[in-house]
Amino acid sequence: MPLAFYPRSIKAAALVGSGLASFARTRRSAEATILTFHGLSENTSDRGILDWSLHLQAGVFRSICAMLAKEYHVISLADLVEARTQGSGLPDNSVIITFDDGYASNYELAYPILREFGLHATIFVTTGFLDAVEMFWFQRADLALGRTRKELLDWKINGKSLRLYLGTYELRQQSLAKLLPELKELPDADLLSEVGRLENALEVTEPSFDDLPQAMRPMTWEMACEMSLSGHVDIGGHTHTHPILARCDVRAVRAEIATCRDRIHAEIGELPFAFAYPNGGSDDFTRETLMLVREAGFKAACTTISGRVDSTVPMHQLPRYGSPESVLEAKATVSGAFETLKDWRQSCRKAMSMI
Ligand SMILES: [Zn+2]
Repeated sequence: MPLAFYPRSIKAAALVGSGLASFARTRRSAEATILTFHGLSENTSDRGILDWSLHLQAGVFRSICAMLAKEYHVISLADLVEARTQGSGLPDNSVIITFDDGYASNYELAYPILREFGLHATIFVTTGFLDAVEMFWFQRADLALGRTRKELLDWKINGKSLRLYLGTYELRQQSLAKLLPELKELPDADLLSEVGRLENALEVTEPSFDDLPQAMRPMTWEMACEMSLSGHVDIGGHTHTHPILARCDVRAVRAEIATCRDRIHAEIGELPFAFAYPNGGSDDFTRETLMLVREAGFKAACTTISGRVDSTVPMHQLPRYGSPESVLEAKATVSGAFETLKDWRQSCRKAMSMI
């Protein structure tokens, strides 16, 4: 079977074991890599949460940091902005660590590890989450499917009929995975009412912040301030209530960006210079969004579109890789081995088509 069809972890092991990662690390040393993490947890087998993809095992994060500290140059996003402004280069094999959303585990679990290895990170916070104004809609969906006593729900959304099986923990995970992409397609104005309708149908109440499992909880502003003052962490913006900005009207986008910037300024005492688009895929922000983020004073903005950072990448569309799930996957990612393999495959296909 071609390597392309194997899971990412197997592919990563093959790329590292074959020496391709070492080769790519040397060949692509001028490119920087930005990694995206969300929360961390010490116990990802806890069944109080269905979707653990946003909460990496703290031990895995520690191993990744140990590897990065030894083999790569971990720089800050501010270093990248400065290098671009001054037209200077970056250290070879630069890596930037980022976290999205603003979970308490960033302070409780990630911050001590960053300090241990002397590494820097940018944490993009959703300010309304830290203010305890609004939890994330995807947390509500996770808890509704996880806590209902129902074993089956037929749900109509976006003109489709979804049959959600809820008889076991694994079936609930699969049903959530089926439901989340549909919820993401809704206009933002309809999203919260749809989640409320779902809670009603599943006969669960809307959770309060006190109901959130440990891994889902927001950091406090005191935690954010302490990390910011330490010099190990920059606090960036990730909107006020985490809507997918392409699903909002322009007034809402402007307000989300400005409120987020102003809340960070008020609490941290400095204007944030970097922003991350919620969800961050190519359909999740528009040209207008980029313009509004730039106008609000942000000097850089991150997507979640996979790719390497070279001197030509636009500063308001910085590509980022998703969280590696192991040290091998981290090595295959930051070395550029995945891209090298992709490039080779494309060259082969081109060559074959000419025969
Ligand atoms: Zn987010």
